[in-house]
Amino acid sequence: MSYPQVLIDLHKIRHNANHIVNLCKQNKIEVMAITKGVCALEQVVRAMLGGGVKKLGDARIDNIKHMRNKGIFAPIYLIRIPMLSEIKDLVFWADGSLNSEIETIKAISEEAQAKGKIHKVIVMVDVGDLREGFLPEDVVEAVGQIINLPGVEFEGLGTNVGCYGGVLPSCDNTNILVRLAKEIEKKYKVKVKTISGGSTVTLDLLEKGNLAPGVNQFRIGEAILLGTDTVNHKQVPGTFQNTIVLKTEVVELKTKPSKPIGRIGRDAFGNIPHFEDKGLMKRAIVALGRQDCMIEGLKPMDATIQIIGASSDHLILDVSKSNGIGIGSVVDFNMSYGAMLGTMTSKYIDKTFK
Ligand SMILES: *Cc1c(COP(=O)(O)O)cnc(C)c1O
Repeated sequence: MSYPQVLIDLHKIRHNANHIVNLCKQNKIEVMAITKGVCALEQVVRAMLGGGVKKLGDARIDNIKHMRNKGIFAPIYLIRIPMLSEIKDLVFWADGSLNSEIETIKAISEEAQAKGKIHKVIVMVDVGDLREGFLPEDVVEAVGQIINLPGVEFEGLGTNVGCYGGVLPSCDNTNILVRLAKEIEKKYKVKVKTISGGSTVTLDLLEKGNLAPGVNQFRIGEAILLGTDTVNHKQVPGTFQNTIVLKTEVVELKTKPSKPIGRIGRDAFGNIPHFEDKGLMKRAIVALGRQDCMIEGLKPMDATIQIIGASSDHLILDVSKSNGIGIGSVVDFNMSYGAMLGTMTSKYIDKTFK
C-alpha cells in the first residue's frame, strides 16, 4: 500500500447513485451521471451503473474513450462544449453532446453523415450564470437551423448554473427552458425529448418543490461521488459522505515554535505569509503538497487536527491536541470537489477501492 492514496468506497457511491436515481424517478427525471470528477475510473462508473444509472456524461473525450475501452456501452454524452478539433473523436466515441455553437453543430453534422451515424445534440441555454449556452432570445432560431441538419438529432435543451457565476437555480430560471421547449414544439412541430435542467445544485430545488414542471433530466456528479452540494454548502439528504478519502503518511513529528524565525520574504508561491505566535506547537508533516491537490479543499477527518499550511510537497499540521500520531501514522482527509479533482489527475496519488 503506498501513500498518498485516495480510498474510494464503491458501496457508498453505488448507494448514492441509487438514491439519486430513485429520487429523480419519483419526479419523472432521468439521471445522467457525471464521471469527470473521478476521471471516469472504471470501478466508480460501474458502481454508478450498479446503482441504476442508465446514462453517463463526461467533459473529456479521453475519459469517454477510456470507458468505451473498458467495455462500458451505456449512452455517453460529452458535457463540455466540443472543440472543432475533436469532432471526429466525438462522433466516434460519444452518443451525444451539449452544444452552444451552430458552426460546431454543423461540423458534427458533416462528420456524423460521413460516418453514417446520428449524433444527439442538447442545445445549451444560458439562463444567467454566464458560462456556456445560447442566450434565451437566440435559442428558438438556432434550433430551427439544427433540426434540418442531417446526421444530428435535436434531442432537447439544457442549462447549467452554479458553476461560474454562482447563480442559484430557481423556478424562474429553470422555467426558461420549459417555456422555450414549448415554443419550439409549437413552432417546428418537433418533440423536445430532453429538458436537462441542472446538476447537483438543482437537487435542492427539487427537494423544496420549486423546480419548474417539465424538467426531465439532471446531470449529477458531486451528489453521487461525495454526497455534498458545494454551491448550497450542504450535504445531500439521503446520501453518504466519506465516500472518497485521502490518506497521507506522517514523515516528521516535532514540537516547534508557531512563528517562523528570521526575516520573512515570500513563500515558494510568491505570497508573503503571516503567522500568529501561538507558542510551541506539536507539528506533523505529511507527504502531500500543492502539486498533488488543492490544499484549501482538505479537511482532516480527525477534528482535533488543523492544517497550518503547505508547500509543493509538504503539508504541515497542528497535532497538539491529538494523541497517537507518530512517524508513519496515516492521517485521513475529506475533500471538496475541487480537491478531489486534483487528486484524481495526480499520478503521484494511488487510487484504491473498498
Ligand atoms: C460538471 C458538470 C455537471 C455536474 O455537476 P455536479 O455539480 O458535479 O453535479 C453537470 N453539467 C455540466 C455541463 C458539467 O460540466
